[in-house]
Amino acid sequence: NSHPDIAGQILDAIEVQFKLDDIALTRITAQFLQEIANGLAEYGQAMAIIPTFVTGVPSGKEEGTFLALDLGGTNLRVCEVKLNGDHTFSLRQQKYKVSDQLKTGEATALFDYLADSVDAFLTSESPDAPKGEDLPLGLTFSFPVEQTALDSGHLLTWTKGFAAKNAVGHDIVKLLQDAFNRKHLHVKCVALVNDTVGALLSRSYTAGGCLLGAIFGTGTNGAYVEDLSKLTKLKDEGLKSRGGKMIVNTEWGAFNNSRSTLPTTPFDNKLDRESINPRFQAFEKFISGMYLGEITRNILLALVDAAPKPLLFNGRVGSGSLNNHYGLDTAVMSDVELAWAGDQPKAEPTEDVYGVADKLAVLHLGDFDEAKLSDSQKQRLERVRKVIIYNLGFEETPEDVSLNDAAIVRWACTLVAERAAKLSGCAVAAILVQTGCASLGTDDGIKRTDYVNENGKIGVGVDGSLIQFYPNFETQLRDSLRHLVGKKVEEAVEIGMAKDGSGVGAALGALIATQAH
Ligand code: ADP
Repeated sequence: NSHPDIAGQILDAIEVQFKLDDIALTRITAQFLQEIANGLAEYGQAMAIIPTFVTGVPSGKEEGTFLALDLGGTNLRVCEVKLNGDHTFSLRQQKYKVSDQLKTGEATALFDYLADSVDAFLTSESPDAPKGEDLPLGLTFSFPVEQTALDSGHLLTWTKGFAAKNAVGHDIVKLLQDAFNRKHLHVKCVALVNDTVGALLSRSYTAGGCLLGAIFGTGTNGAYVEDLSKLTKLKDEGLKSRGGKMIVNTEWGAFNNSRSTLPTTPFDNKLDRESINPRFQAFEKFISGMYLGEITRNILLALVDAAPKPLLFNGRVGSGSLNNHYGLDTAVMSDVELAWAGDQPKAEPTEDVYGVADKLAVLHLGDFDEAKLSDSQKQRLERVRKVIIYNLGFEETPEDVSLNDAAIVRWACTLVAERAAKLSGCAVAAILVQTGCASLGTDDGIKRTDYVNENGKIGVGVDGSLIQFYPNFETQLRDSLRHLVGKKVEEAVEIGMAKDGSGVGAALGALIATQAH
């Protein structure tokens, strides 16, 4: 290796840009709180803090059977949810694909497709459903909607690759109901809930109380239970004077849209510029499944293209999708990390090939000496190599993918994912501080007890493949949380999957709506 120092310096320079120390995490959380405050006070702010008109969380005693429709994730889902009234539920569901053509075509075509899917579900799954009465349906709609009531709200903007025409500014419930009516379906959409609200409601139903619902999947967002008195932009004086609480959908994916706070790398800038929504959803682009693979791909390409000498894959990109926009799926990063971690218990940091205590060792290519690797290190890198060869279309030869290449790819995945998890911790910490449960930078323990659930914990319901499957994502999130709000609070936070959160949450939304009438 004729340029060990240059190689090492290039990698160091990349690593430094992705690392977040405690001071940076605190600064970011403080700014997050500021943007929440802006959104609570005024409409039209970057972080929208959308009132949901849901004024409490379920206890787990709720009962009834409801239809739920879920749009906004990878699949469209139709479900029938039966709430048993004892924290449990049963659910039947069908998934339907949403083509790119539907995502970007006319909104009426998209909503006709939603209605057709409900029709198909009812025909195949619920042929005995009562025909006369309208079946109440809750819609989980995971895009920013400015709600004016539980059953009405207009779309502010599309996210996550959707761009259907003539939908922004329109009432989503009306668009759906019109489609049901066009097809003469006896279904009435009674509630519109965001997927984060769904996660919050469903986790609260199963856990008996919950503060925050958060999504870490294709996108990221959170909804929490706020004091109505702090929602000062709300015009409904009657509602405000009643006091109590209301769930708000933060739309935190838009945090840092002003680009003032997050340390942004050239790899982030390239991603943003090439995205369909440049300068929007800035926080989401650092965090979520749709983007982590792409940031990593940008790093890998820079190393493939490095001068005076390629630092990766001998300057080649393989025959797979490394050369394609969004060609590296975040799930592949997960596989790389799993291959590297091997059988080691999740909680223990893996020993590093470079013998440096820090899990993210500073790599110096010049120091990489295959002969010095232990058998276990070699085996683990060999597994990483296989994942790369298989997923990125390389040949089995060491010229195509060396063990050193495998080490670099693993390093890049960890850098990008760890930053995402740490920043996710900032979002959770900000909600804890905003609600008065904790204070930033102290270790005082839980400061407010009305948010503590049946088990003495502060509930956080989460959903999404990233937090569910990415190795160590939750560990890193908690690490960041501990630095920001102290160990006592971090330990009191109970992060639990909101199982079937969108379906159950929409059903709970429908129940709340029917009870209100
Ligand atoms: P959605 O948020 O669309 O409802 P998911 O929660 O499954 O659906 O999130 C899908 C996103 O998660 C995709 O961007 C995908 O790249 C990513 N993903 C899927 N599987 C994994 C995995 N095993 N590890 C990490 N990310 C994953």
